[in-house]
Amino acid sequence: MTKLDTLLAEVRACRACAGVLPLGPRPVLQVSATARVLIAGQAPGTKVHASGVPFADASGARLREWMGVSADAFYDASKFAILPMGFCYPGRLDGGGDAPPRTECAPLWRDRLLAFMPDLRLTLLVGSYAQVHALGRGKMTERVRDFQGHLPSMFSLPHPSWRSRHWATQNPWFDAEVLPELRRAIRSALT
Ligand code: SF4
Repeated sequence: MTKLDTLLAEVRACRACAGVLPLGPRPVLQVSATARVLIAGQAPGTKVHASGVPFADASGARLREWMGVSADAFYDASKFAILPMGFCYPGRLDGGGDAPPRTECAPLWRDRLLAFMPDLRLTLLVGSYAQVHALGRGKMTERVRDFQGHLPSMFSLPHPSWRSRHWATQNPWFDAEVLPELRRAIRSALT
């Protein structure tokens, strides 16, 4: 067993938020020592919690379409790592929508896992939680529009939830200008 396997086993046994997670702990992530692209997402929804497969839902289908990669490529851990800001389904907000990622998670695990991924070249900051963690406070739309400001190491994206369809309609430059560059940045990180 490698040191990364040992750490992963520790993550999978984590119960730090057991008292507050409505469906209990089930960390969902994908890592390997050779990954080149890190997908830094938000937190699993109920479908992902049920399957244990990251982005195995409509958001994942949209994200793969944005990235221009097949499901087979996306789930190739030797190329793509997937670390949401919170690894377990956090529940719902009283007013609707999923609760934010658990804040216990990143300080416990994130840097320790990243230390085992020395070949990462590009991090996709998928949604505002990942962006605030990496870049500090700021407006998501402005960050996505200014995607070139953090290349070649980081690329800001909206979260690909159903809401992003409406957002993309309001911001047509995203499809026209940002997505071709996103695909180019991923190709470059993988070669
Ligand atoms: S969200 Fe993270 S810190 Fe909380 S139980 Fe799951 S793995 Fe542990």
